Parts: sequence; C-alpha cells; structure tokens
Amino acid sequence: MKSEFMKQADRVMAATYARYPLVLTRGSGCTLWDDQGRAYTDFVAGIAVCSLGHAHPRVVAALKRQADTLWHVSNLYYTLPQVTLAQKLVDISFADRVFFCNSGAEANEAAIKLARKYFQDRGQPQRCRIVAMAQSFHGRTMATLSATGQEKIRKGFAPLLEGFDFVPFGNAEALAAAVDERTCAVLLEPVQGEGGVRVAGDGYLKSVREICDRNGVLLIYDEIQCGMGRTGEMFAHQHWQVAPDIMTLAKALANGLPMGAMLATEEVMAAFGAGAHATTFGGTPLVSAAAVATLETFEKEDVVARCRQTGRYFRKRLERLVGRHECVKAVRGLGLLLGLKLGIEGSRVVEACMQRGFLINCVQGDILRFAPPLIIEKGDIDALVECLDEVLRDG
Ligand SMILES: *Cc1c(COP(=O)(O)O)cnc(C)c1O
Repeated sequence: MKSEFMKQADRVMAATYARYPLVLTRGSGCTLWDDQGRAYTDFVAGIAVCSLGHAHPRVVAALKRQADTLWHVSNLYYTLPQVTLAQKLVDISFADRVFFCNSGAEANEAAIKLARKYFQDRGQPQRCRIVAMAQSFHGRTMATLSATGQEKIRKGFAPLLEGFDFVPFGNAEALAAAVDERTCAVLLEPVQGEGGVRVAGDGYLKSVREICDRNGVLLIYDEIQCGMGRTGEMFAHQHWQVAPDIMTLAKALANGLPMGAMLATEEVMAAFGAGAHATTFGGTPLVSAAAVATLETFEKEDVVARCRQTGRYFRKRLERLVGRHECVKAVRGLGLLLGLKLGIEGSRVVEACMQRGFLINCVQGDILRFAPPLIIEKGDIDALVECLDEVLRDG
C-alpha cells in the first residue's frame, strides 16, 4: 500500500516512473533497507550500476577524500583523477582516448556525433547513416531514442532524428544488406540489456566486424550495461575478441555516481578536436575519483573472475527452474547479466519476490532480469532461487 510519503511523491514528481511501493533508505554490500527497517537482497544493483554493492568501503573512502579536496572546476583545466581514470581505461581496452560525460545517453550522443564528424572530416558527408538493431536500447535523448529499436520508447516524439536504419540483432546477412555507401557506423550492444537480455550467436560479432571493414564503416559498441565486468569479461565484446572503433560506457563505471565515457581509437577520436564537443560536468574530479576507486577494487578483489564464476553458478541454478515450472521458458544472458524468460506476466513475480525480501526487475513484460552486484555470494543466489521456486510454483 502507498504511504502518505509515496502519495506526496506521486503528487510533486513527474509521473515518468511507475515506482514500486518501497522507500529505500540505506544500503550496504548486496543488502538494501527500507524505511520500515526491512532488508532486501539486491539483484537489481540500481540497474547494473552498483557492481561493488552499496557503500563499498574503498569507494566511500576515495569519495570522502576527494570531497575534502576538489569537486569540480570544469574541463578548462587538467585535473588529476580524470587523467588517472582515462589512463586506466586506455590500459584495459582497445581504445587510445576517452571522452567523459555524465550518462549513458550522453556517451551515445557523443559516439553518434563522432561517427558523423569522422566522415565529414574526410570529405564524405553523405556517410551519415547509422545501422542499429531492433530491440536495442541506447537512451532517451532525441538522438539516442532515434537510435533505439523499440517503438514504445520512440512513440510520441516525432519527428525523430534522421539517419537510423534497423536490422534484427544477431543476423549478419540482414546487416550486410543494410550497410551501404551512406552508412557511417554500425551501433550495437554486444549483449542487449533492456531489449531482453539477449546474447547473439558466437560468430556474430566477427561477421559484423568484417561487414564494417569491407564497407569502410565504423563499429560502435554500446557497453553501457554489459561492460565493466558485468558479463564475466571486463567488456562483453572480449568474449568474442572482436574490437570496435568506438565504445560507450556508463552505468557501472563509477559504481553509482553519474558518469559516462566514450572511448575510441586514435584515428577515430582525431575527429574530436578542440571545440568539437564538450560538457560542463563530464569527468569531474569527484566522479572520476569514484571510478578510479571502482577500477582499483576490481583489480584488488579480482571482481571480473569472481563474476564469471558466480554467473556460471547462478545460470545453472536458474536452468533447473526451466524444467520444474511450466511458466519458465528459458535462461538467457552472460555472467551476472541474466534473464529468465517467462510464459506469464513478470511484474507479479517481481512483486512477490519483493514481499519475500528480494529485489529483481522485469524487462519487456515477461523477462525477469538479474543484475546483482558482482560481489554477490552463492548463498544469496541460493536464497533467491528458492524464493523464485516458491513464487513460480504458486503461479
Ligand atoms: C541504460 C542504458 C543506456 C542509457 O543510459 P542513461 O545513463 O540512462 O542515459 C544506454 N544504453 C544502454 C545499453 C543502457 O543499458
């Protein structure tokens, strides 16, 4: 039931979210508490954001240190944490350079602008179209929703930005047919998140890269959700060892502080010279310090390898539910970005789990999505799977 506080919230805030009737007040590790003092095990992690859980001591300490030192001075000057972070990202990825911003949508905006500018600088302004994927999700700004292959997200905002074509995700032949001399880039999530936790077949990215190379087209990966260790590799595309020209990050990058990044090769990022693109807040010392501490913790605690192992265990446990309940159709995903495709409405299951002390969420109506902190323990997974077993048995 909704409390007075929730009713007030519903009166004064834009109604863009249908929130669960839960007021969360505190978090530690994989546990969240509500204003009634009830505890919940968190399998949402702020939508694949808090990979080190809540209030991780190392990140908190770094943030407190930086809060006493310097928050923001704009990008008119050099600042220390930002450069440390850029160097780390360059060291662990295909990229040579990084542009920092404040969200996933902004990172994708930057990628779209960069791809167009790259060809305009080469005297090929006709190369301005981007081939994106059906069921994709790239954000809610005008350009990124124009790049998003889901009608429910695009609806009501016409005219959209021109220049986006869509093909089915995972189908290399359809992509080959859609790419032509007007294409500047192919944009895809190596593992689709909001679209339903979907992983393409094993040869897919390699074929995509070949199609891009054959046509002289840039390849952009949106790893905003599937990157940063979430799938059991630092970046999801590393499962198939096919590098892009541009990659976007956000969600887990600063473990809960808002931050986005657009990474590219030297050759491609050359199109972003002084004045070509900018943001007031991008990469402030404060958020950068949190991201640096996050990456250092990833190394010190071997978080990615741990995610790979725990993810495998979680998947096996979920697979057993497929045989046990008629309404469970399939397990999807990779690492700790997992989905359970149901034959029934997912929201009821989400609510029943919430009542039993577990936070999960649901995408596309009938796919339960699990994206817990990467430090989740097997015991927590066992407890959730038992809860699901019970909830699904009750129909
Ligand atoms: C969440 C998400 C975005 C948008 O990020 P925001 O920070 O909400 O703008 C873009 N792409 C993918 C794959 C995402 O999961």
